[in-house]
Amino acid sequence: MSQVMGCKVYIKRDDLCGVALGGNKVRKLEYLLKDAKQQGYELVMTTGQAQSNHAMLTAACCRKLGLDCVLVLKKKGILERKGNQVLNHLMGIEVRFVDTEDYEDIYKEMDRIGEERGKKVYKIPCGGSNGLGSIGYVDCMREIREQTDETFDYIACACGSGGTSAGVLLGASLYFPETKVILSKVDSDPFETIVPSIMEECAKILEIPCPKVDPLFVDAWGEGYSIPSEEGLEAIRCMLQKEGILLDTCYTGKAFGGLMRLAKEGRFKPEDKVLFIHTGGAGGLFAQDFEEV
Ligand SMILES: *Cc1c(COP(=O)(O)O)cnc(C)c1O
Repeated sequence: MSQVMGCKVYIKRDDLCGVALGGNKVRKLEYLLKDAKQQGYELVMTTGQAQSNHAMLTAACCRKLGLDCVLVLKKKGILERKGNQVLNHLMGIEVRFVDTEDYEDIYKEMDRIGEERGKKVYKIPCGGSNGLGSIGYVDCMREIREQTDETFDYIACACGSGGTSAGVLLGASLYFPETKVILSKVDSDPFETIVPSIMEECAKILEIPCPKVDPLFVDAWGEGYSIPSEEGLEAIRCMLQKEGILLDTCYTGKAFGGLMRLAKEGRFKPEDKVLFIHTGGAGGLFAQDFEEV
């Protein structure tokens, strides 16, 4: 990829982290499910769209830790038993769909199911994106610092619900203070305010000051969240053909596609070192109907 990009490309393989298909959510879940266990919860619920990587990984991590798990998903996206829904099914996880745009309806349904079962519900927000979950990406930055003496000019990742970005920014401020963070927005939400507010919550839990940061936001959602983009598909093909590494249509393809666009625009110098955080997502890729794209 370095040749294609015209700079030095490094990839942090958080897609290979050892639970199910891997991905960024596992780092957040380390903190969230530890919290659930410590507080004595036995039933965990989370949400997202039908093909949510986060929901599938929450289920997988709950199985591993012996926690009960129900997924209360938005009736959106690819609902059939494909991709991540195959894995949810094989794990024997109960999935309920709620036809709503409002997460409040989802949380109400979670409470209702909890009452039905006579159990308190540990509710994890969409994407596991809160201050506690984001600590996982402060850890990731420390881990990279420990793994290499390299300095990076840029660290880049996909921004979907904002928790990963918040942790990366906070962690980079501690361990890579000279590095510019690039956040490829795969959805049109106002991440310029969402990300700093998660960051603040995260810094508060860690009892460290929350720095002022200035990431470079890149619009990478194309026609909309989870709709494959031409730029993203080109990145998927290129990464698979050059490196044998899988990206996905919803997050990492679009994120890397955004970086390829910056490279074409001449943003990176040949000696620049760009670290891409591969956040996973293979499950969703195999739900996609490639007859259409
Ligand atoms: C959720 C997800 C992201 C985005 O992370 P956020 O913390 O939600 O911004 C990126 N890549 C993949 C594969 C994901 O599943």
